[in-house]
Amino acid sequence: MMVNMAPLPRDVLRDVFGYQSFLPLQEEIIRRSLAGEDALVLMPTGGGKSLCFQVPALCREGLTLVISPLVALMKDQVGALKANGVAADFLNSTQNAIEAERVMTRIEAGTLKLLYLSPERLFSGLSGRLSSWNIGLVAIDEAHCISFWGHDFRPEYTKLGQLRSILPGVPLMALTATADPAIRRDILAQLAIDEAAVYQSSFDRPNLHLAVLPGLKRMERIVDFLARHPGQAGIVYCLSRAGTEELAEKLRVKGHRARAYHAGMATEDRSAVQEAFLRDDLDIVCATVAFGMGIDKSNVRWVIHYNLPKNLEGFYQEIGRAGRDGLPADTLLFYSYSDVAQQLKFMDDANPDRRALLAAKLERMKQYAEALQCRRRILLSYFGETPETDCGHCDVCENPPQTFDGTVTAQKLLSAVYRTGGRATARQCALILRGSNAQEVVEPGWHDLKTFGAGKELKFEEWMEYASQLINAGYVGVSYDRGMTLGLTVLSNPVLKGERRVPLVKFRSFEEKKAAAPQPKAVSTTDGDPDLYEALKAVRRRIADEVGVPAYVVFSDKTLKDMAAKAPRSREQFRQVHGVGEAKLEHYGTVFLRAIEEQQNRGRSENPSLN
Ligand code: ADP
Ligand code: ZN
Repeated sequence: MMVNMAPLPRDVLRDVFGYQSFLPLQEEIIRRSLAGEDALVLMPTGGGKSLCFQVPALCREGLTLVISPLVALMKDQVGALKANGVAADFLNSTQNAIEAERVMTRIEAGTLKLLYLSPERLFSGLSGRLSSWNIGLVAIDEAHCISFWGHDFRPEYTKLGQLRSILPGVPLMALTATADPAIRRDILAQLAIDEAAVYQSSFDRPNLHLAVLPGLKRMERIVDFLARHPGQAGIVYCLSRAGTEELAEKLRVKGHRARAYHAGMATEDRSAVQEAFLRDDLDIVCATVAFGMGIDKSNVRWVIHYNLPKNLEGFYQEIGRAGRDGLPADTLLFYSYSDVAQQLKFMDDANPDRRALLAAKLERMKQYAEALQCRRRILLSYFGETPETDCGHCDVCENPPQTFDGTVTAQKLLSAVYRTGGRATARQCALILRGSNAQEVVEPGWHDLKTFGAGKELKFEEWMEYASQLINAGYVGVSYDRGMTLGLTVLSNPVLKGERRVPLVKFRSFEEKKAAAPQPKAVSTTDGDPDLYEALKAVRRRIADEVGVPAYVVFSDKTLKDMAAKAPRSREQFRQVHGVGEAKLEHYGTVFLRAIEEQQNRGRSENPSLN
C-alpha cells in the first residue's frame, strides 16, 4: 500500500500494473508531467498512452481529470483501473443521481485519484466546481476530436481550451493516435500547448502482419483466412450497413460466431454486440467504421477490410485494434476498383477544397494497396517515418514480385481499349481478348473487332491483373464517372508504336502465391502447456462473469500466456508474471495458483511415465 510518501513511477508500474519496464517515451512523459509540464502524446493504438497519465495520477497528490469522448471507453478504462486496485471512477449520463452523488462525495473528500468525464458532462454544470477539486493534471484522451480535420470531430471538445483559465497552472496532457500534421497543429493551438511538449513515438506496430488481396472471391479468401484463426477474435470492416449484415449471416452459416454492427442498429443491439465481443462470447464482428473507437479489447487477433477504406489514418487505426497486447496479429485488405469508385462517389457532396484533400488521401490509400514494395515502409512514410530496411513481415516482403517484359501484353490490351472507343470496362476488354461470346461482348458488336480472341494465351484473371497494373502505372485511364470504362492516356501511344517497353509483374494465382509464401503460422497463443493455458482461460472466464467485467480486465492474453509458460507455484512466483500487480495478486493469486496446481496434478496422472 502506498501511504504518505509519494510513490515513484517505477514502483507504481510494477506494484499497480504489474509491468517490469516502461514502453518507449512513457517514462520521460511521466517524469516531465510530474514536473508540471504539458504534453501532446502521439502514439499508435496500443502504444501505451493510458499509462502516461495513469502513473502520474498515482504518483502525485490530488485528482487527475481524464476527458474521454465515449461512455464505453470510460467504463472499460475505469473497470481495468479498479481491477488493479486504483481509486478511479467516472461521471456520465449512464449513472443515476445517487451514483453520481456517491462519486461527487469521493471527489470532495479527496479520496478519488482519477475521474473520467466527457466534455459534455464537464461543461454542463461542473466547470464551476473544478477549482475546488485539487486537480493536479488534466488528460485529454482522443484529443484529435478537437480538430475539424479529424474524422471524429466533436464540437464540445473545442471548449477544452477554457480549462487554461478555469485551472490556471494545472498541466494538460493531450493524447491521440492520429499523427496528421494539420490535426496536431490544431490540438496545440486550441489547447495552448507548446510545440516543445510534443512526444511522438514510432507508429510501427511490428506484430501486425500486413497483406492485400484483389477483391475477387472475397468469401472464399475469408474462409481460408479464418481457418488459420480458429476461435480467435477479429473484426471485418465493410463499407455498407447491408454489407455487414450479409457477411455476418454468411459467416454464421459457416459455423462462426459472427454478428453485424453499424450505426443504423438500435443502441441496445449495438451495446449487446459490443459487450458480447468484449466478453469473448462473440468471435467476429462485421462492422462499419462506426465500430471500434470504444473498443479497448487487447486480444483482437485479426482485422479484415472487406472494402478499401478512404484513407490511411482510418485504415491504420482500424488494423491497430488488432494485437494491442503485443502478440502477433493478422490483417488483410481487399482491394478493387469498384471500391475506389464508391469512395469517390461519397466525396461528391464535399466542397472543392475538401474534395481535393479527400481525393489525395484516397490516392495514398490506393498506393498502399497496389504496392510492389514493402507495405510497412509505405505506411510508416505516410506517418513521417523513414525506416531503413524492408520489414520482412508483409505479403510483399515475403513474396517479392518478379517482373517481365510485358510490352506485347500491354499492346494487346491497349489495342482493345482503342478499338472499343473507350466504351469497354476492364472486364469487357478481357472478355474480348479471350474471344468470349458473352452477351456484353456480342451486343455492341465487339466480336467483329480485330483484337477479338487475340489474347487467348492468358486466362481471364491474368488479363484483369495486367489491366490493373497498366492502370496503376498510368498506361490506361479509368473513367470513374462513366461506368469504369477504360481509355488511352498520353503514355499509351508510345507503347502502341513500340517506342516504349512496359515491365509487368508476373501474375500468380492465389494458390501459387499461397504456395510460395512462407506458411503463415497459426498464431500460437501459448508457449507453455496448451492445456494449462486453456484451464487458465476458463478460470479467467469464470471470474469475469462473476465480477461482470470483460475477460481481459481480469488478465490480458499476454498475462495468461506468460502464466502458462512460467507455471508459478508460489505467490512470489505469481508476482513475477507480466501484468500482475499487488491488487491482482491479492484478488486472483489464490484461485489461479490452485488451478495451476490442479492442472499439473491432472497432467501427471494422465502421464504416469512423467513421474
Ligand atoms: P493506447 O491507449 O495507446 O492504445 P493502451 O494504453 O491501451 O494503449 O496500452 C496498450 C496495452 O499495452 C495495454 O494492454 C497496456 O496495459 C499495455 N501496456 C502499457 N504500458 C505497458 C508497459 N510499460 N509494459 C507492458 N505493457 C504495457
Ligand atoms: Zn514489408
